[in-house]
Amino acid sequence: MPFRPLVLISVLGIAVLAPQAFAAEQGIAVRALAAPVDSMPEATDFRLGGDAKQTRFVVDLTRKVDLAAFTLADPYRVVIDLPQIAFKLPPHAGEQGRGLVKAFRYGLIMQGGSRIVLDVTGPVRVEKAFTLAAVDGQPARLVLDLVATDRTSFLHDIELAARPAHAVHRNEAATQHGDDSRPLIVIDPGHGGIDTGTKGLDGQEEKDVVLAFGLKLRGLLERSGKYRVAMTREDDTFIPLTERVRIARQLKAALFISIHADSVPRSEGFAEGASVYTLSDHASDAEAGRLAETENKSDIIAGVDLSTEPDDVANILIDLAQRETKTFSVQFAQTLVGDIKPVAPMHQHPVKSAGFIVLKAPDVPSVLVELGYMSTRRDLKNLISPDWQAHTAAAMAHAVDDFFAKRMVGASVGAR
Ligand SMILES: [Zn+2]
Repeated sequence: MPFRPLVLISVLGIAVLAPQAFAAEQGIAVRALAAPVDSMPEATDFRLGGDAKQTRFVVDLTRKVDLAAFTLADPYRVVIDLPQIAFKLPPHAGEQGRGLVKAFRYGLIMQGGSRIVLDVTGPVRVEKAFTLAAVDGQPARLVLDLVATDRTSFLHDIELAARPAHAVHRNEAATQHGDDSRPLIVIDPGHGGIDTGTKGLDGQEEKDVVLAFGLKLRGLLERSGKYRVAMTREDDTFIPLTERVRIARQLKAALFISIHADSVPRSEGFAEGASVYTLSDHASDAEAGRLAETENKSDIIAGVDLSTEPDDVANILIDLAQRETKTFSVQFAQTLVGDIKPVAPMHQHPVKSAGFIVLKAPDVPSVLVELGYMSTRRDLKNLISPDWQAHTAAAMAHAVDDFFAKRMVGASVGAR
């Protein structure tokens, strides 16, 4: 099958993966070319019709594209993978469902590849999934027909499809740095692509805020000359949680900093300020537990098949062997809070812990920073202000300095 290779550089600038390869990796039959970037197909409208037995989902497109549809269990989802599409659907599209579809999301899953994820009410079978070329004044369309089924048949269908282990990204051979023994810091801006994270009062998206912040922090750390810095993402790309952990471990990171922003529903009252989280089996309080649950949904939102996640990351338990890592994580969290306090509003109890998947590298001190609440006016104003971002990132860079200065003093701890 001839195709023009579409070379894409992923997050660390190493992996080269065309959408075709991406699809092939997932065991999907690929029949045609991805579109050249200069004429990206657009999704302009959608319709949902049917009932609890049979539901049709239609998306209007500016041009016919190839698609691959598959189902995922626990929670029940239907995933449609497409070449990169510009989504120009009406506002609030996907927030309300119909028939077998509860809701749907869409967006970039990787450079060159878009995805639509439908949350479905129960086990379903994909009866038809195809696109039609424009004809008789009708636009090109994507058509997906779903019928209700039982769980046994649903799981059987998944088995038949027998897709190999999910892996959206490959960041291979990223560990070569020659003689550079400076500590490597991984900055992890949360969410990305199809996973927008939480939303601000005026529709701002967490994924954009935390990326802007992460890039600022990288700039500061790199300019200091003291560290090597890697980002889990440096553009609007989705990266699965376990992949983020894998990147940190593979790079033998000395520190992993995940950047997020929180929000609370109006009904749950007022909250503001930054918090720093470390990993623990039991949440330090109910709010920390709720937050970890929300942040851990990232992969479900993006249509990642959790059943194929490698156990070594997904099910790592915190044991004594991790005690040293944990001690360093808590130490850094406290340093961080001390350094951020003078420049940014802090939450009442700013150091907390819970079972965040992204913090589970057993050998990399890891923290997750919630910069503030996008649901709170004052925090939001800060979060989107380049000035505030710069000040707070500078405070964090200072905390990184403090952390490594202490580690150097504790001479028993060598460079990783
Ligand atoms: Zn988040």
